[in-house]
Amino acid sequence: MLNLAIASGKGGTGKTTVAVNLALALEQENVQLLDCDVEEPNAHLFVKPVIEQSYAVGIPVPSVDPEKCSFCGRCAEVCAFNALAVFRDQVMVLPELCHGCGSCAYLCPEKAITEFDRPIGVVETGRADGLSFAHGRLNPGEAMSPPLIKAVKKLADPNAVTIIDAPPGTSCPVIASVSGCDFCLLVTEPTPFGLNDLGLAVQMVRKLGLPAGVLINQCDIGDGAVEKFCRENNFPVLQKIPWDFELAGLYARGETAVMHLPVWRRRFQSLYAGITGLVEGAVRQ
Ligand code: SF4
Ligand code: SF4
Repeated sequence: MLNLAIASGKGGTGKTTVAVNLALALEQENVQLLDCDVEEPNAHLFVKPVIEQSYAVGIPVPSVDPEKCSFCGRCAEVCAFNALAVFRDQVMVLPELCHGCGSCAYLCPEKAITEFDRPIGVVETGRADGLSFAHGRLNPGEAMSPPLIKAVKKLADPNAVTIIDAPPGTSCPVIASVSGCDFCLLVTEPTPFGLNDLGLAVQMVRKLGLPAGVLINQCDIGDGAVEKFCRENNFPVLQKIPWDFELAGLYARGETAVMHLPVWRRRFQSLYAGITGLVEGAVRQ
């Protein structure tokens, strides 16, 4: 079964709306929606799942036993994130900078380092409208989102079509969200900002070797530069959604187009057919 990521180079393009509608439009028995936009998860506002399970996620950070430590400085040398500083008779740990890689504990010659879990957020799982749903909620002020994103992605069911709502942008959290997916749909808008950020997102998916395509949202508000870019870069435009008063009203009320307007269910089903066609084409190559 397919794993599809819905991403965008910038926020506010309608990425979550597309992810939610696509998930709800599919009539397979098993569809899963994973909201990996853990800093600002909002797919649940539209899907309205009944949350059945919630658990904390943390990352292992070091704790130094001063009785065993010889203050040799090896741990600070190996830490690529400057999360440790060794002084003459003290080791300072900066837990917020620690990525939980475990190198310092592994390489400490005195075995003076143990690890404890520092909580970074929670994962919540549930169901709604036949969908299996999960999202992560990063703790306020927390910067270390990729481990929480990975915890949400771990829930991907190999027997389900999985739709992943990625965070906006092209940085580490996005890469953590889209890596390993079968396809990445980039949602953009036909404006100069949309074009600029689409260019960065295209570079990202190409570096990751991901089959990808574009959905142009509010396709009638800007100019033709995004479509020209896609043509020139041989990047498929799979769907265009015009600005629509009815759609905007549904969005404002936290409702979805596919649950209220049958035409949009068909359009999202046709988007899915386009995606599967491209994925099968990529597999044959
Ligand atoms: S590597 Fe181990 S012994 Fe050396 S300073 Fe760090 S904690 Fe202390
Ligand atoms: S676990 Fe990794 S990132 Fe964290 S302090 Fe140790 S070496 Fe640095």
